[in-house]
Amino acid sequence: MSLLPLLVAYSGDIPTKRTLLEELGVVLGFIGLGLFGIQFLFSGRIKQVAPSFGVDNIVQFHKEIGIVAIIFVLSHPILLLVSDWEYISFYDPRENLPRAAALFFATFGMIALLSTSLWRVSTGLNYEWWRLIHGVLGFSLVFIGIVHSIQVGHYLNEFYKIAFFILFFGSLVYLLVHARMVRPYMAKKDPFIIKEILPRKDDCYTLRLEKKSAEPFRFLPGQFTWITISHTPFSLQQHPFSFSSSAENSILEITAKRIGDFTNTWKYLQPGQTAFLEGPFGSFTLKEKPCFLVMGGIGVTPGISFLKTLADRKDQRKCILIYGNESWKKIPFREELDRLKNQINLKLIHVLEKPDKDWDGEKGLIDEKLVTKYLPEDLNEFDYYICGPGQMMDKAELTFRKQGVDWRNIYAERFDFV
Ligand SMILES: Cc1cc2nc3c(=O)[nH]c(=O)nc-3n(C[C@H](O)[C@H](O)[C@H](O)COP(=O)(O)OP(=O)(O)OC[C@H]3O[C@@H](n4cnc5c(N)ncnc54)[C@H](O)[C@@H]3O)c2cc1C
Repeated sequence: MSLLPLLVAYSGDIPTKRTLLEELGVVLGFIGLGLFGIQFLFSGRIKQVAPSFGVDNIVQFHKEIGIVAIIFVLSHPILLLVSDWEYISFYDPRENLPRAAALFFATFGMIALLSTSLWRVSTGLNYEWWRLIHGVLGFSLVFIGIVHSIQVGHYLNEFYKIAFFILFFGSLVYLLVHARMVRPYMAKKDPFIIKEILPRKDDCYTLRLEKKSAEPFRFLPGQFTWITISHTPFSLQQHPFSFSSSAENSILEITAKRIGDFTNTWKYLQPGQTAFLEGPFGSFTLKEKPCFLVMGGIGVTPGISFLKTLADRKDQRKCILIYGNESWKKIPFREELDRLKNQINLKLIHVLEKPDKDWDGEKGLIDEKLVTKYLPEDLNEFDYYICGPGQMMDKAELTFRKQGVDWRNIYAERFDFV
């Protein structure tokens, strides 16, 4: 798909060839433009795209391909200038002010796009502002790229080529309008009410949400939603949270640990307030086989949804949960897990990083030795699910692979993917 702009530009009546360096610069520019375009497809939360690839993979792809796209597009002016310095006139405001302004904006915009993405956390850039800047820059850069290609017109010299580029841009506008206007508008027509706010251990809060309309909200255990808590869904504050309730229950629950400006507000929410949900999303869902879960802290929420759903469905398949927390007092779903142990076929292994003196269970951080100790004999009869702190997830995944678990049976959900 990303090669389409290049193929269309180089189709039909091709003008006289230029130097190899110039052609390479143009080719990289068109491929970069195509790569920029497909970013909208993958970051537009299209349900048909997400299930086939998984959110983690999509975000990883978005990050890596985004960097490649920026490098390709930046090489376009560099290669042209190296091949012929006369191209500097494109940046000369005396020759054409709008063109020079747009190209300066595009060049520095790409550098800004890359650096704000790579160093957002270390520079302390607020997530909502970053997301706004990221979207505006990404969209403007594609727009400038397309206008620039048409304006130069060296390859876009026939009507059908120009029509393709306009259509290409139109489809990106459609994806953007759908994600930022149509979906919030649909969410506005179908709001939720916060029924209850339940405080939990380790500074966590559960929101119990009920749909205002009678039409049920269906999700698969393990999926997540994007929630906005406001009088309008057209808000920058939209955050992803896994459901921590049974997929069989019409009252939905999401549970968050207080870590920042949005989750800090949960403590002060009042029953009766309105929330808007988008989704459900995600492919980290309960499959058919028995399950082996390695989870840490608040990363247990999708697992809680699995186990509660199994209990409601009276499903007695075998489940093993290795659950890491700092201490006994800080286990967010401790009581629920005890109850679930009596309802389903669950083997629960608590692992405490800083246990009390009298603790005789597993201690320390979840590592290879510990995971291996509890692996079932019939390894590939199980599905493996990992969610929690990054280091724990990496160790668990590596252990599964090392011990011979088929990679197709391993599922991971990262809460800190951006
Ligand atoms: C698929 C998925 C499921 C999740 N499920 C849960 C859950 O069940 N319980 C839970 O406590 N947390 C969950 N999270 C993490 C949760 O979304 C963030 O902790 C929350 O958005 C933090 O917002 P904040 O403003 O309170 O904190 P901030 O300090 O603003 O953000 C802390 C970090 O959270 C991430 N983040 C912030 N805002 C967003 C956003 N709008 N979209 C995506 N990431 C963001 C960023 O990495 C940021 O650096 C999940 C994340 C993902 C991706």
